[in-house]
Amino acid sequence: MKIIQERKKCIGCGSCVTLCPKYWEMGEDGKAHLLNSEFDSQKDIEKLEVKEIGCNQEAADICPVQCIHIKK
Ligand code: SF4
Repeated sequence: MKIIQERKKCIGCGSCVTLCPKYWEMGEDGKAHLLNSEFDSQKDIEKLEVKEIGCNQEAADICPVQCIHIKK
């Protein structure tokens, strides 16, 4: 499955980082960064292939602008 973050929507609230620090950190641009992810500059998204969803489900659920997506 795949975790996808729409970078332009992120408001940098930090909730995903607090809930799921194994996968998320705050970037220098004030937005959350998905660790070890691949950046698609055309779509302005970060994506990461994972076997286990782990805490990313909680991160996606709590994101106030719903910019974290999980594709199964
Ligand atoms: S929870 Fe959503 S809006 Fe908040 S920092 Fe994470 S990705 Fe950005």
